[in-house]
Formats: sequence, C-alpha cells, structure tokens
Amino acid sequence: SAAIRIRGLEKTYGTGMRALKGIDLEVREGDFFALLGPNGAGKSTTIGILSSLVNKSAGEVSIFGHDIDRELLAAKRCIGVVPQEFNFSQFEKVMDILVSQAGYYGIPLARAKERAEHYLKRLGLWDKRDVPSRMLSGGMKRRLMIARALIHEPRLLILDEPTAGVDIEIRRSMWQFLQEINAQGITIVLTTHYLEEAEQLCKHIAIIDQGRIIHNTSMRELLKEL
Ligand code: ADP
Ligand code: ADP
Repeated sequence: SAAIRIRGLEKTYGTGMRALKGIDLEVREGDFFALLGPNGAGKSTTIGILSSLVNKSAGEVSIFGHDIDRELLAAKRCIGVVPQEFNFSQFEKVMDILVSQAGYYGIPLARAKERAEHYLKRLGLWDKRDVPSRMLSGGMKRRLMIARALIHEPRLLILDEPTAGVDIEIRRSMWQFLQEINAQGITIVLTTHYLEEAEQLCKHIAIIDQGRIIHNTSMRELLKEL
C-alpha cells in the first residue's frame, strides 16, 4: 500500500500566495523519499499539510489509506514529524519532553520511559537525559526532535530540512541513524535543498519548484541524467 497518496493538492495562503498549484505524489511503504527544491518552492507547505499543521485549499491526501479529511486521527497516528524549528519548552528536561510526548498518545509511563531510553541511546543523547533542552547544542536539539517524533512508533517519519545548519560529523551520524530506521521498515520523507543529502540517503526523489512537481524519479535514474 502507499504510505502517502496526494492528488491535486493546492494551497493558497490568506496573503494570496499560491504555494501549491496542484501536486500529485505517491510515496510507497518502506521508501526513503526526498522532496527537493529551492527556497519558497512549497516544501514546508506540503509537509505542513501532511502533518495537519496547514490546511489545504483543495485536493486529497491519504496516509496509509487514511484520508486526512475523514480519518485524521488514524492518519496522525501513523506519522512522526520533525519540524524545522525547535519548538520545545526551553526548561523541560530531555527525558521529560519524550515522556510527556508519549503521554499525548496514551502510551503507559513504563513503556514511554523504555522507548525514550532506547532512542536517546541510539541518538547519542542518553548522557543529556536530565538536562533542560535549552542547554543542548543545535545538533542535539535536532536529534531530540527526531526522538520525539518516533516515540509513538509511527510507520512514517517526515523531516523538514533535518540537517540544516548541523555540522558534518553530526550530519553523517543522523544520516546513518535514518538509514537504520528505514532499513527497519519506517518510511521516510524529508525535504532538503542539498542534492548531496538526497543522493546519500534517498531511493526516490521529487523536485518541486514554484508549487509544482517538475520531476519525480528514482535516485538512480536522476543521477544518470545529471
Ligand atoms: P492559513 O491560510 O493556513 O490560515 P494564513 O494565510 O492565515 O495561513 O497565514 C498566517 C500568517 O502568517 C499570514 O498573515 C502571513 O503573513 C504569515 N506568514 C507566515 N509565514 C510566511 C511566509 N513564509 N511568507 C509570507 N507570510 C508568512
Ligand atoms: P519551502 O519550504 O520550499 O521553502 P514554503 O512552503 O515555505 O517553501 O513556501 C512556499 C511559498 O509560500 C513561499 O512563497 C512562502 O513565502 C509562502 N508561504 C509560506 N508560508 C506562508 C504563510 N503562512 N503565509 C503566506 N505565505 C506563506
């Protein structure tokens, strides 16, 4: 089945800006998919709609067969989102952030702590578990957002520019982590404006420009054309 199916998606903001002008896109289960495009192309808008932070103007979106107009809660349960902006409470401690996120999904405390420990260890943040989030470096904050997005064990992880502004060493370790969880069966969609990032990680790629998909292909085919 398709992890994501998008048909005729349009978004016009209140300002009159037509950010998406009719997008069709399908992401298969298990894929590692990049949405690549310049600033202002519509990447964040697309992700915002997928994660129901932005209302669409027209079109249809379904996540693992759950239409977001009719089965929003079921769709949301399948998705973990890593936004661009760090949006935690500055004073809350790393472990508490994950445990309270798990609480939103009704995950029992003992299970929540177990999962938090698992992801903090895998992401190299276990030493920071009792540190307030404001004390973390930029790269650590990114990794904490990834752990938070995974706490309810979504089938699909969506990341908006996951490694923007992160130094190369941390970027490589994040790439490796994402490849590992993809190999374990989590479908991944990320936006990026680095072709290199897409090239290193992704199986399929769609290029978006001025609110339209101008290219949609496998990474192997794309590299042949360049
Ligand atoms: P929606 O149609 O989804 O409710 P709005 O059009 O009401 O969204 O947008 C909310 C406000 O955010 C707008 O007034 C807009 O000026 C502002 N805004 C936020 N980000 C941007 C951006 N990248 N470009 C232009 N305006 C923005
Ligand atoms: P990208 O993520 O590819 O940089 P965006 O989806 O953020 O692109 O933006 C697409 C277009 O929509 C841009 O022209 C941007 O300025 C505009 N835009 C984004 N958010 C808003 C908003 N809230 N209100 C008005 N315009 C917006």
